[in-house]
Amino acid sequence: MIVTIDGPAGSGKSTTARAVARRLGFVYLDTGAMYRAIALAFLRNDAEATADGARTLLPDVHVNVRYQEDEMRVFLNGDDVSGAIRTVRVGNMASQISALRSVRDKLLDTQRRVGGEQAQKHGGIVVDGRDTGTVVFPDADVKIFMVADARERARRRLEQYHRQGEDATFEEVLHEIEERDEADRSRDIAPLKRAEDAVELDTTTQTIDEQVDFVVDRVAKARTQQA
Ligand code: C5P
Repeated sequence: MIVTIDGPAGSGKSTTARAVARRLGFVYLDTGAMYRAIALAFLRNDAEATADGARTLLPDVHVNVRYQEDEMRVFLNGDDVSGAIRTVRVGNMASQISALRSVRDKLLDTQRRVGGEQAQKHGGIVVDGRDTGTVVFPDADVKIFMVADARERARRRLEQYHRQGEDATFEEVLHEIEERDEADRSRDIAPLKRAEDAVELDTTTQTIDEQVDFVVDRVAKARTQQA
């Protein structure tokens, strides 16, 4: 069973995906973390976020995912960078380099391989990102497209930054979210958009539990239809 959850930043994808995976005994695959790992390599090597920069850098960049007690960890050239990728700077770079075809092509195979292996092993995976229902797993069993009002998403991101000890104002975060949305939606390759067969879930006024229930319910329906 493959469940994809796509949507803009701050819509609640990762929190929901992680909780749905836990509830169903599946594992969670965070594709954004993989883009962030490549972004960290760009930053560490002072590489430009261009096709040329990628051409020079990418042959030496190896991103992998492993599960430790069913918790996803992301590795850059063998080092666990799961913590180091959670900064605003890395997020901004991830947004830029994710528009490059060579970067997307590099991650696509790994995402499909890891997703396939984990789905076999655990009976299912929940994947989240921007293009997981449109490009990575177009035949997924359940596809969700999560949306929420930009101000509510900014409020959630700000809370997350404060928890992580990062300093930011509401206006800065709102601006970052709006810019990120525009960049993700308007890029030529794998833009953020709802797959035709995805169900839209607006989380603006929903609690996490309601979001999780909604997705779990969809999985139950898909199972009944497949039986
Ligand atoms: O989800 P997260 O904020 O960690 O993702 C970081 C960036 O990676 C996003 O802003 C987006 O531009 C990019 N991304 C992507 N496709 C995915 C997942 C993330 O382009 N499947």
